[in-house]
This record gives sequence, structure tokens and C-alpha cells, in this order.
Amino acid sequence: MTSTQKAIQRGRTLGAYGYPTPNLIALKDTALEVTRRVARQYGEPHWSEKDPLSMLVIIVLSQRTRDRQTSVGYAGLKARFATWEEMRDAPVEDVQAAIAGVNWPELKAPRLQAIMRQITAERGALSLDFLCDLPLEESVTWLHRLHGVGPKTVACTLLFSCQKPVLPVDTHVRRVSMRLGLIGSKVTPEAAHSLLQALLPDDARTIYNYHNGLLEHGQQVCVSGRPRCERCVLTDLCAYYNATKPPTESSIM
Ligand code: SF4
Repeated sequence: MTSTQKAIQRGRTLGAYGYPTPNLIALKDTALEVTRRVARQYGEPHWSEKDPLSMLVIIVLSQRTRDRQTSVGYAGLKARFATWEEMRDAPVEDVQAAIAGVNWPELKAPRLQAIMRQITAERGALSLDFLCDLPLEESVTWLHRLHGVGPKTVACTLLFSCQKPVLPVDTHVRRVSMRLGLIGSKVTPEAAHSLLQALLPDDARTIYNYHNGLLEHGQQVCVSGRPRCERCVLTDLCAYYNATKPPTESSIM
């Protein structure tokens, strides 16, 4: 049974599990205006020069790990191993030691090596450069089959390194999107990817600006816990703000 069917069975509001309104044109307009404003506020992010395999390694290292720890872990791998092939074939303890600063190195070291072995076995070489030349759907499907590679890792790898229009949705992007009223309050992380993606144009630059802008906004202003709405440039677009703001004198009269 799907989450939507379960919601119907329990008599819950369907909008909480998908789009809060059937007016998709209005939601798309809001998503685009949000993108413009957060790009003005936080700037447009630069495209990475890292190849897709290196990006995949960084994204796996970054799971539940702070940016600085991730950078140190990645630098540790580059210092310890001259090539990704050398890392793939090294004793797992060596890989684990090189990334000791990230969270759960004992899980990430064997996972990264397993991914590298699978790529090599299927492609005959340890590279993901071919993904950038595949049609979007094919590249998503190929990457998603790798063991331990979820939707966020797929989207980050393909957007950041191949400039393909796939939206990564992390906890900040999901929380801010929910408060804005672009998706329902009970949308799962998996569903949030496709629901938000469908509100944005099929354009990698716009998608990257939305991802980066909402990530920054979620870390600096629309934080977990009590959002700092008094510092926000999105108040007139925000469902949460408009539902919770105190009434003004003119609205009482
Ligand atoms: S108005 Fe408040 S709740 Fe809405 S996006 Fe801004 S900070 Fe978040």
C-alpha cells in the first residue's frame, strides 16, 4: 500500500503527503520566485570541476558529516592513495584510517570500495565520466543501482559534476520547502525529490540555485526549531509565516 493510500485509509489530509494545493501553476511561480530571491541573497554557486566518481566519493563521505570533516576525509584519501584504483584495492583498514575524521568510517570505507568494485566490474574501468554523456533518465537509473547510493547521492553527483537538471533534496531544502508550502508537511524525503523537481524548470542552473539557496537559507535563517522569520526575504511567499504571523491592527479592523 502506498503512503497516499494509507493516508486515505486513515482519513488524513491528502495535501500533507503531496502538493498542498492542486494549483501547480501557482506553486511553480512561487518556486521560481523563491529561486530568484535566494540566488540574490546567497549568490549563484560555482560548478564543480571534480569528475563524477570523485564527487560520488565526497557525497558518500559527507553523509551525516559536517563540511569541514568531509573535506579533511577527502584530503586524507587523496594523500594516502595516488589513484582511486589504488584505494579500491587497498586493505579496508587503510581506507578506514584515511577517513577516520568523518562519521562512520567503518561503514563508509567498505561501502566506497564496494561501489568502486561494482563500477569496475560493470564498466571495465573505474570511472563514471560516461554518465555525463548518457540521457538523464539512463544516468539516474545506472547510478541508483549501485549499492548504498540513494536519490540524494545520485542527484548531487549528476548535478554538481555533469550539470544535469536533477534536484538534490537534503533536510534543509525539504524543511524550507515545506514551510514555504511548496510540498505538504508529511512528504517523505524520497517523495520530496520528485515533487519539488516537478515544480522547477528543466534547467540545471535554476535547479542548482534552488538547491544551494534553500540549503543556505535553512542553515542561516529558516533553521530547524524556531525560524528567524524577521530576517527572511521570503515572508510574503511563505505559508508558515502567513499562517502564524500575529494579526496587524488593520487586519483586526
Ligand atoms: S518566513 Fe520564516 S518560515 Fe518562512 S521561509 Fe522565511 S524563515 Fe522560513
